[in-house]
Amino acid sequence: MSSPELASLYQQVILEASKQKHGFGLHPEELPSSHQLNPTCGDEITLQLVTDPAGGTVQKLAWEGAGCSISMASASLLTDLTAGLPVAELPGRIALFRELMQSKGAGVEDDEPLGDAAALEGVSRYIARVKCAMLAWVALEGALLEAKA
Ligand code: ZN
Repeated sequence: MSSPELASLYQQVILEASKQKHGFGLHPEELPSSHQLNPTCGDEITLQLVTDPAGGTVQKLAWEGAGCSISMASASLLTDLTAGLPVAELPGRIALFRELMQSKGAGVEDDEPLGDAAALEGVSRYIARVKCAMLAWVALEGALLEAKA
């Protein structure tokens, strides 16, 4: 996972996602949501979880925020990853992404369940930036807790 070609491909995925910001724009209605702040970098996000009426499937994530390209790319990639997923699968994906971010560049055995978000693997080498990448995922954890309450 350290070839220069792969590294530059990953950089491209991150750059594009940080520009595209899939899911950007909050809904006016009350939805399970969470606001998270990363004071060390100044990243901020508010994220809403939109499910089907029964609450079993993610329709989409909606979020607004501002911050560095890693935090914005991560929110966009998380939005892409979770659309259409069973809500019950979210904690496992979040745990796997956290494991990847805590791997200090070593990666995880199987990053397939993370889709394009696995492109953020390189961030795990920079401890100061891990919080940037985790921000949206922690916000999703918060929204999940609210959805259960
Ligand atoms: Zn940041």
